[in-house]
Amino acid sequence: MIEVKQPKRIPFIGMLQGMLTVFKHGLQKPVTVQYPEEKENLPDRFKYRIFLSMDDCVGCTLCEQVCPNLTISMQTVERDNPRNKRKIYPDVNFGTCTVCRNCEEICPTDAIYLTHVFETARTRNSFTYNPEELEKHEEEVKR
Ligand code: SF4
Ligand code: SF4
Repeated sequence: MIEVKQPKRIPFIGMLQGMLTVFKHGLQKPVTVQYPEEKENLPDRFKYRIFLSMDDCVGCTLCEQVCPNLTISMQTVERDNPRNKRKIYPDVNFGTCTVCRNCEEICPTDAIYLTHVFETARTRNSFTYNPEELEKHEEEVKR
């Protein structure tokens, strides 16, 4: 019968290794921040909340047409805007927006654009922002 030799174990070595690991992690700078008091710097390329300048919107519907998932739909808004004869403006459902930026890129007047704003928490049934809400800052939008 072959005798299997067990490696010699030094007492407490595993425990010391564990303590060393914990100590090393304790010396590292935390990777988290105290949100919402503190906020991380977002990368330049980060985009989320869509805004709309209604005065610049000509109602061409291109943004609606290029949106890949029907996130945008055009709404009639009575507003004195000689550039928008049909009086139609986009609304956006942030529940389905994939932040692809197609709408921003196709818009001929830069009326619709994505921003760094990401805090858009609203109730479950109201992810859709109408054209007037898309013009406002997040704090002014009814939740
Ligand atoms: S970013 Fe993309 S998914 Fe979101 S509204 Fe614009 S086109 Fe639609
Ligand atoms: S936001 Fe731009 S692309 Fe969309 S309807 Fe208005 S002008 Fe056209």
